[in-house]
Amino acid sequence: MKDEFIYECSLCGKTYPISRDIMLCPECRESDLRGRPLKGVLKVKMPGGMENSKNPGEAFDVHDYLPIEKKFFPGLPVGNTPLIKAHNLEKLLAFQNIYLKFDALNPTGSFKDRASYLVSASAKKWHENKIVVSSTGNAASSMCGIAAAAAQRVFVFMPWDAPRAKLVQCLQYGACLIPVKGTYDDAFDLSLEFSKRTGILNRNTAYNPMTLEGKKTASFEILRQMKGRKISHLFLPVGDGVVLSGIVKGFCDLKFLGLTEEIPCIVGVQAETSSFLYSAFYEDKIDLNYKARTAADSISVNVARNAYTAVKDLREVKGKMLLVSDNEILDSQRLISEATGLFCEPSSAAAFAGFLKMKDSIPPKENVVVLLTGHGLKDIEFSSKKLKFPGALEPDIDLIIKKLGLKESLIIK
Ligand SMILES: *Cc1c(COP(=O)(O)O)cnc(C)c1O
Repeated sequence: MKDEFIYECSLCGKTYPISRDIMLCPECRESDLRGRPLKGVLKVKMPGGMENSKNPGEAFDVHDYLPIEKKFFPGLPVGNTPLIKAHNLEKLLAFQNIYLKFDALNPTGSFKDRASYLVSASAKKWHENKIVVSSTGNAASSMCGIAAAAAQRVFVFMPWDAPRAKLVQCLQYGACLIPVKGTYDDAFDLSLEFSKRTGILNRNTAYNPMTLEGKKTASFEILRQMKGRKISHLFLPVGDGVVLSGIVKGFCDLKFLGLTEEIPCIVGVQAETSSFLYSAFYEDKIDLNYKARTAADSISVNVARNAYTAVKDLREVKGKMLLVSDNEILDSQRLISEATGLFCEPSSAAAFAGFLKMKDSIPPKENVVVLLTGHGLKDIEFSSKKLKFPGALEPDIDLIIKKLGLKESLIIK
C-alpha cells in the first residue's frame, strides 16, 4: 500500500518512486543550490485509489495518509496538539471565534517535530542512523530530540548566535553541534555540502520532501478538531515557507480524500524585515541579496528556500501574505500570553499579529485559526525587551506592601 505513494515534482509534475536517493526533481533542480530558492521541490502524492474514499466528518487516522508505515515512527507523542478557543481574546477583540493551535506542546516545543518525526521514520525505514540538518534553531532542536528517541545520530549546522535554549536543546539530546560563524543561509549550504561529502541523509527544510509532508498533519488535526465548523481564515508564520506549503497540502489532501470541500483562506505572515516570500508572492521578486533583520529568529530567513513552491501553493488556494513589524510581534506575543496563558515564540506571535492587522476585514462571526508554532521559553531575550523587571526587595512584608502601594481597603487590619 505505501508503495503506491510517490513523489511528484512541484514544478514539472514528473513522478518518481519514493526513495532515499532522491531529494529534488533531477530534471528541475539546479546544480548549484547555494543561496537560492530550490527548484524541483518534491511533494508526496497519495495513491489515486484514495480519491474521494472518505466522507466529510468521517473518522480517520492520519498515518494512513503518510508515505511511511506507522511501525517506523519513534515512540514520542508528536502532534495532536490542542486547538484552544481563546475566550478572553474574543471578548477583548470583539471577535466571536478565535482558535489557537498550540504546537508548542510538541515534545521539543515546536511545530518542526511534525517534520522531524516523518524524517526520522523514513530514515529508520531506509536503515539510516545518521541525519544532518541546518536550522535557525527549531528544526535542529526538533530533529535532535526526535532522533534521540529513535536512537539516531544528528549533525547540526546552526548559526552560533541562535537563541541559547535551542543550542542547549541540541547538546542536551546528545547531538553533534556545529555552530557556524554565519547566517542560517550559510548553515543551509554547508549542511548540503556536508551531506554530499559524507552521504549522510539530509533533513533540510524543503529539500527533504518528508519535511513538507510531515507538516501537513496539522491540517488533518485542525479539520478534525473543528468538528465540521467552517474555517474562514488560517494564519501562520512564514520563514522558508514550508509550514505554509505543508498546511496548504494538508487541506488539498483532505479535499482529495473527500474529507472536506473547502480550503480556508490561508494567510502567511512575515516580519517586515524578513519579507522574501512576501515580495516573491506579490511582486515576483527573487532578491538573492536580500538580508533579513527581524529579531523573530524562527522566521528570519534571507532567501526562502521553498519560495517557488510556496508562492505557487498559496496562489493556487488564493491565499494571502501579510507583513508585521517586530514591535507588533512583541505586543501580540504579550497579548496572547496575558489573555490565554499561552507563551508562544515571536514567530508564532507574528501570525497572531497578522490576524490583528486583518481582523477588521473579517466578519466577527467567522471561525479563525492561528497556528502558534513554537514555545516562548525558547527565546526569552525577545520577549524580555518590553518587560519591566521589578527590583529586588528586602524580605520585609510591611515594606513590600508599602512598595506595592496597595489600597488601604485591601489590607486586612
Ligand atoms: C521554522 C519555524 C517557522 C517558519 O516555518 P517555515 O517553514 O520556515 O516558513 C515558524 N515558527 C516556528 C516556531 C518555526 O520553528
